[in-house]
Amino acid sequence: MIYNDKKYVWHPFTQMMTEPDVLEIVKAEGTSLIAKDGKSYLDCNSSWWVNVHGHGHPHIAKAISEQFEKVDHIIFAGATHKKGVELSERIINTLPDNHFQKVFFSDNGSTSTEVALKMCFQYWHNQGTPKNRVLAIEGAYHGDTFGAMSVGERDYFNKPFEPFFFDVDYLPFPKKELEKSTIEKAEKLFQTNDFSALIVEPLIQGSSGMRTYSSEWLDQLVKLAKKHNVIVIFDEVMTAWGRTGELFAMNHVNELPDIVCLSKGLTGGVLPLGLTVTTQKIYDAFLSPERVKAFLHGHSFTGNPLACAAACASLDIFEQESTWKKVKLITSKNKEFGSKMENHPSIEDIRIMGTILALELKTGEGNTYFSDKRDEAYRFFLSKGLMMRPLGNVIFINPPYSITMEELEYVYEVIEEFIG
Ligand SMILES: *Cc1c(COP(=O)(O)O)cnc(C)c1O
Repeated sequence: MIYNDKKYVWHPFTQMMTEPDVLEIVKAEGTSLIAKDGKSYLDCNSSWWVNVHGHGHPHIAKAISEQFEKVDHIIFAGATHKKGVELSERIINTLPDNHFQKVFFSDNGSTSTEVALKMCFQYWHNQGTPKNRVLAIEGAYHGDTFGAMSVGERDYFNKPFEPFFFDVDYLPFPKKELEKSTIEKAEKLFQTNDFSALIVEPLIQGSSGMRTYSSEWLDQLVKLAKKHNVIVIFDEVMTAWGRTGELFAMNHVNELPDIVCLSKGLTGGVLPLGLTVTTQKIYDAFLSPERVKAFLHGHSFTGNPLACAAACASLDIFEQESTWKKVKLITSKNKEFGSKMENHPSIEDIRIMGTILALELKTGEGNTYFSDKRDEAYRFFLSKGLMMRPLGNVIFINPPYSITMEELEYVYEVIEEFIG
């Protein structure tokens, strides 16, 4: 099997020449990933940050199987289905303050941001006042398609593609001491009136190392964008679904965006689905007797009914009090562990936001994805039965909410042992 994997499979984010053999997982259950040799691994990063309720959740399984009996997949142009409508209505009603009105479907996080960007560019185009620049934040990650890469950090990950990216300005990451100057910089840029959109990962940047920033700063920036008619996109692909301690990161702020992108935990993390949710104002700019003013974008699997059924089932689980009790419990345990580790000599920084705990280790070489510490940490955690993929010298957990307190304590113990 492993031989055939090497022979036929090309893995993501992987140098296939030097990477050691991958783990064959034969069963995923709750927080456990069971390998072929019988060894069990705790899924500390929710299987690439997606699995929020644990693997094989019976309620989600039932929803998918029942949906399969009814409508497995249909074209979503000129036709609709119950679960697509139900999901849209529930998402609109779950997002704050009746602020959003329309849901556009795609297949993953990258396409949800790609769609958001295309909507912004066409919004201005349709009104005969094209605006070509976007403002993003240094260290951003919005996905791996071209538009999404264009607004992401320009680094070794996307070097070969850089000549093909559109024009983007970046604000420095708003560390405390840069809060004032970054707002001033944004104001200057917005005054040029060239900006179509602002895109941010609200409150916490994921891929750049789970880096947090203040909600007051975000409120200021969004307010400024609105003052200058710049469309605001919140990429909540990672931050939604309880990760920040609330259902959405935007539940922590006062200024709401015009567009929000959702994916990852949306289906409980079991089927691919992306949503781009907009206000009435964005939607209305596409209404016209002219067909070319429509949003001419779609995917074969747009609005896949099985994925919609899984997402509705995941929303059911988020309506249960026990889910939120667990989110709060993980949050407070993270804080306890964080304060215990605060002054550890090997730790550069500790960041906690809800169910996410990140420890930046001192390496003397800066925060690099390819740091040797990363491989060392990854192997150490595997040997202790933890599946945990550090981001460079940042080790972090964002576990499924089905994790038990005993399991969580064990994770902290192993982290402490590694750092020690
Ligand atoms: C993961 C991620 C994406 C990309 O989602 P994919 O489903 O992997 O394409 C986009 N934005 C953020 C903030 C993410 O964390």
